[in-house]
Amino acid sequence: MLLELLAVNTFYGNIQVLYDLNLTVKRGEIITLIGSNGAGKSTSLMSISGIVPARSGKILFDGKEIQNMAPEKIVSLGISQVPEGRHIFPDLTIQENLNMGAFLRKDKQAIQKDMEYMYSLFPILKERADLPGGNLSGGEQQMLAICRALMARPKLLLLDEPSMGLAPIIVKKIFEIVKKINKDHNTTIFLVEQNANLALKIAHRGYVLENGRIALQGSAKNLLVDENVRKAYMGV
Ligand code: ATP
Repeated sequence: MLLELLAVNTFYGNIQVLYDLNLTVKRGEIITLIGSNGAGKSTSLMSISGIVPARSGKILFDGKEIQNMAPEKIVSLGISQVPEGRHIFPDLTIQENLNMGAFLRKDKQAIQKDMEYMYSLFPILKERADLPGGNLSGGEQQMLAICRALMARPKLLLLDEPSMGLAPIIVKKIFEIVKKINKDHNTTIFLVEQNANLALKIAHRGYVLENGRIALQGSAKNLLVDENVRKAYMGV
């Protein structure tokens, strides 16, 4: 098991947002956490990355307890997060943004090789390598944010709603690449999404979060055809 959440409870002040969350991610898996607006999906990711620490419960990463660690320490263990809304550095060039992702690494040649891999995933980033990140469209910024996170060579990539605000054709492309990254490098991926249909199509397993509680879990295949999931999250 790469990641394990055991009875995680998370609060903002007095307000509890996550209730006894139990969840596992195996090495090499894509798992998705789906649910409506405000269900607590982003908060789950932020508890894993230490930005909004769990108040109780345990989070094990690679067998180590991380629930009390500072976010920088968690990053250094191999967890990279692509937050909702992307947050690239708009004034830095695309190449500089990618370099920032590799700032903890010293293996220069491998960094160069990874950079070429990122450019092969999204050739548009190569064409614009010397332009400021802020010049890119929303979809291209999402691509850059994912590539920047990957430049750290994470063991676990946390993706928060990569489809947010993007045209369907761009979303499709991004999801295809997420699947490819998982295949090419065996990168484990934790994908938070409101777009249940697309997320379940690329994931191995899924969890449904409702009001801060896991309401349903199973193989992505089964969740995709589950009556309740279809009604509540796919509008069918
Ligand atoms: P969304 O798709 O809107 O991001 P989500 O499932 O990711 O939804 P969260 O963002 O985790 O949900 O929010 C869960 C709950 O916590 C919501 O009720 C939200 O209003 C509340 N919340 C989020 N951030 C804060 C904060 N900084 N302070 C107080 N409450 C917050």
